[in-house]
Amino acid sequence: MGYLNPDQQKEIRLKQEQKLSKSYYDRVNYFCQRKRLGYDKRNHRVKGLSCNNWSCARCRPKMKQELFYKVVTASMVFGLDKHIILTVPGRNYRNKVTVEESFELLRYDFMKLRKVLKYHLGDIEYIAMMRSQTDGYAHTHMLANKFIPQAFLKKKAGKYPNIGFTSIRQNTDVAKYLTNDFWKDHEYVIPDGKRHYSCSRNVAPYMAKNNEKSEDIKSFELNDNYNIFSQIEKVVYDESKYPVPLETMLCYLKPDIRPRIGG
Ligand SMILES: [Zn+2]
Repeated sequence: MGYLNPDQQKEIRLKQEQKLSKSYYDRVNYFCQRKRLGYDKRNHRVKGLSCNNWSCARCRPKMKQELFYKVVTASMVFGLDKHIILTVPGRNYRNKVTVEESFELLRYDFMKLRKVLKYHLGDIEYIAMMRSQTDGYAHTHMLANKFIPQAFLKKKAGKYPNIGFTSIRQNTDVAKYLTNDFWKDHEYVIPDGKRHYSCSRNVAPYMAKNNEKSEDIKSFELNDNYNIFSQIEKVVYDESKYPVPLETMLCYLKPDIRPRIGG
């Protein structure tokens, strides 16, 4: 058996990483609509609540849609009609840095670059979205309200080792991004636990989670160490003094499986 040179090792590792994260994103989170339940007092119904993870194939389309409307609204309110793209450098860099590291490092340099831009141009309103390129490595789509001359951006960004390609365009490019790349699924395959967007302070209220949960719904999390049915029974009884709904009881007739309830 021969040895693998660093390039070959790198290639194998990259393929494994990609395979891992893609398949991870292609499935529905096992706990989605199983772990957290909601008891709807008004309709006397128990239902499984969505997990709201970007990696969950059931939740992601809905979350993308929500993010899209928020981004569009904020863009109109703050005039975020400039589209800035930052990517990590090319091949040599990527041979040394893993996909996961690239997200951490780009975020770090992006934060520093933002401070420099603020120093020269004043406050900038923006939304920045960390995404994956087709090979998995990090890049940022930033929508901003201030025009930054390309040469200036390139010069400033050039001081940071984790930023390679930069581009800034206006108007049609924002629309093009929001109707094309924004929706591409591979863009969302980013390391677990990394934030999918960040924004300036004034924009933040427009990006906040809308709490659409009605006051009639009592949400609770199941604890695997206790009998599931009695946990549901307790919540339903505490809230309404009714017994558990029949359809929910039927779900738990076979105690070795935990079925998905409601939806
Ligand atoms: Zn989910």
